[in-house]
Amino acid sequence: MPIYEFHCEDCNKNFESLVMIASALDDVTCKHCKGSNIKKMISATSSTQPLKGGGIPAGALSGCSSSSGFS
Ligand SMILES: [Zn+2]
Repeated sequence: MPIYEFHCEDCNKNFESLVMIASALDDVTCKHCKGSNIKKMISATSSTQPLKGGGIPAGALSGCSSSSGFS
């Protein structure tokens, strides 16, 4: 579901809105004050994944699985 987070510069509040098509982003109005002076927020949830690309190498995972078969 394409739920975007917006920040209203009129009432200084954040709100979320379901936007089906990208062109409708310009039509979104503030849920609190009905203002149109809003900014779309960059979703933080998808960019804060810890250790992405810097975590455990694939070789370490395969080595772990082989050692688990030792017993
Ligand atoms: Zn507002």
